Amino acid sequence: MSVFVLYHPEFLNHDTGASHPERPDRLQACVSALKSCEFSNQLNWKKPRFAIENELEWIHTKEHIKHIKSVCDSGGGYMDPDTPVCSESYNIALKSAGAWMDGVDKVISGSSVFVLSRPPGHHAESNRAMGFCLFSNAALAATYALKQNNINKVCIFDWDVHHGNGTQNIVQSNPDIAYVSIHQFPFYPGTGSHLENGSHNNVLNIPIPANLGSKEYLQKFDNDVFPFLQRNNPDILIISAGFDAHHRDPLACINLKKEDYAYMTRQCLEIQSNILLGLEGGYDLQALGECCVEVVHELF
Ligand SMILES: [Zn+2]
Repeated sequence: MSVFVLYHPEFLNHDTGASHPERPDRLQACVSALKSCEFSNQLNWKKPRFAIENELEWIHTKEHIKHIKSVCDSGGGYMDPDTPVCSESYNIALKSAGAWMDGVDKVISGSSVFVLSRPPGHHAESNRAMGFCLFSNAALAATYALKQNNINKVCIFDWDVHHGNGTQNIVQSNPDIAYVSIHQFPFYPGTGSHLENGSHNNVLNIPIPANLGSKEYLQKFDNDVFPFLQRNNPDILIISAGFDAHHRDPLACINLKKEDYAYMTRQCLEIQSNILLGLEGGYDLQALGECCVEVVHELF
């Protein structure tokens, strides 16, 4: 089984400033963990392409795209109070989005993929950047997948500890995309109540309280997430893989262990034998590296 890691060193140049949690060290921690793990020589590393603006326009308004470009062209600034960009961030975000689409191509051709890119995407809505996110990588990948032959249904499973308001915002009216998120609630960004179900009952939100342990979390996965994925029977399964529900994470208060991510990955591979995982959040460097190795190991 060939497993691809889509990564480009340019992702490190998205400069969010000193002491910002969404920092280049995050990717470096993942890269060095994967390069030094016992199966490192079996990984296929590939540099991704850029997304083009026409592709972004499938899911984002022209104004949104132009606004990010113009702030970056003027030297950088803040897209929202949490979301700084530098002059290179626009092009890097195009590459981050392109990596997720390349991941779709790899899955269709019979491989599993881990996309190691930044900026992340699941908070970016059709017309606004927020929460460290510029473009909605997962929603773009799902939309791209539906344009390929024999792909009629896509599921996105978002296990990042935050609700993926951006992904939901973009896909909730599309009956061909099903979105399921399990997230700490109430918490940033404030959305993701169980009453938000999408226009076609294609959205499932599973809010969980702070301090939940891994046993209770995995019960929610088994009882709610897994049946939703099974019921929707996707041709492609995309995972918004943040690792900020890990017990070491400094931003959130859920207590997963690295083995829990491996378990969920194994279960997702029961739904589809090849899957696409892409990095979203996760702010503890040790947890990031260890969790990447755990989930990628499951892909073989
Ligand atoms: Zn997060």
